[in-house]
This record gives sequence, structure tokens and C-alpha cells, in this order.
Amino acid sequence: MNIILLGPPGAGKGTQAVRLAGDLVLPHIATGDLLRKSVLQGAQLGKEAKDYMDKGLLVPDELVAKMLKARMADSDVKSGFILDGYPRNLNQAKTLDVLLKDFNLAIDLVVYLDSSESVIVQRLTGRLVCSGCGANFHIKNMPPKKTGICNHCGGKLFQRTDDKEETVRKRLEVYKQETASLIKYYESKQKLHRLSADEDAQSVLKKIAQLAKEFDDSLKV
Ligand code: AMP
Repeated sequence: MNIILLGPPGAGKGTQAVRLAGDLVLPHIATGDLLRKSVLQGAQLGKEAKDYMDKGLLVPDELVAKMLKARMADSDVKSGFILDGYPRNLNQAKTLDVLLKDFNLAIDLVVYLDSSESVIVQRLTGRLVCSGCGANFHIKNMPPKKTGICNHCGGKLFQRTDDKEETVRKRLEVYKQETASLIKYYESKQKLHRLSADEDAQSVLKKIAQLAKEFDDSLKV
């Protein structure tokens, strides 16, 4: 099953995608994660992307498409995937269609996680990420047991540079400009399902799993 999770930064796409990928045993492909990995590795792509990311701007479409194409060629993607953070604009959606066609794949379900601006800003500016395993925490909503230390692997927690309030607001502005046409695109293909992401993560996950099951009732979710 091939699923796209859409929604503003901070709507919880990453959290939901990780859980859903676990439940459905599908790879979670997050372009933000792939880009951050590339930056950390000091790869050429990461060097070209970093400045855009630090400013909360979109990395040029061609760079992201190249990176995604390489990931899509991996053998684990053949059984399906959960795509998170891509597409982010209409051009990327069209690129994705072409890319998937080349691999003989198609999108089954697009879930749009809707969230209010105040919830997003609160979520993102308080988010802490583990430098070891990538797990997410929140200063207030989900604090780690030991300040600054990951519950799972003992790694150091840090705040993403693009989670500073000014950059979060910029990311939201970019999101609003770019995604309206994207939503219309998937609506016209009758693939889009909207959910409120302001509820607790478990309820949202249940609703996404239900949508997946409606699409494929052989799923054990
Ligand atoms: P995310 O982890 O999805 O919030 O992404 C973090 C940052 O990576 C974004 O603010 C962009 O700078 C960049 N990024 C991630 N996915 C894309 C994409 N599909 N297109 C362009 N830039 C992206």
C-alpha cells in the first residue's frame, strides 16, 4: 500500500508515519530525514540543501527529486511505503507521479493532517530530537525522563535549528503558499482524506489506520 501523509509542519506527520509504518510493516520515507542525513554526512546534496533548510525554505525541487528517486529504487519500497514531507508543491506531486510510473507504482491514499497555527507553533518550538536514534520529545507535552537525554538510547536531545519560532513561522508561510494547489490536485484525483491532527496522537493514528483498512480490508490494523 502506498500512502502519502500531507499537512503543515508540526501536524504530526512524522510521528504518525513512524507508527503507521510499524503497524503496516512498510518503509517510512521522510524527505526531511533524508536531507538531514545528507547534511550530517557532509554529502554534496546536503551542502546544497543546508542553507535552504536553515532558513525554513524549500530545497529546490530537482535536488529533492534526485534524492527521492534514489530511495525509491531500494528494494524495500516494492511492498509499499509511507511518504512523509513529499510532495510539498504541485510540481513535486507531478514529478512523483512520473517517478512512480517508472517503478510501476501508484499512490493509493493521501491523508491530509490538518492543524491550527497555534498548536503547530507550540508543538514545534518545544520539540526535542534525539541525536542518537531520532526519537522526538516535547519540553511540555512529552518530556524525557532525564532532562536533555533520550529515554530510548541515552542520546543527547537537541532542538532542530529550523524549530526556532521565527523559522517555524516562515515554514508555515511557505507551506500555505505552496500547498493549496497540492490539496486541490489530490482532491481532483479523489485520493485526499482530511483528518484533524489537533487530537491526541493515538486517536489520529486509529483514524488513519481505519482509512487504510477501508482501502484494503485485508490489512491487520
Ligand atoms: P521536515 O522534516 O519535513 O519538516 O523538513 C525539514 C526541511 O527540509 C524543510 O523545511 C525543507 O527545507 C526541507 N524539505 C523536506 N522535504 C522537502 C521537500 N519535499 N521539498 C523541499 N524541501 C524539503
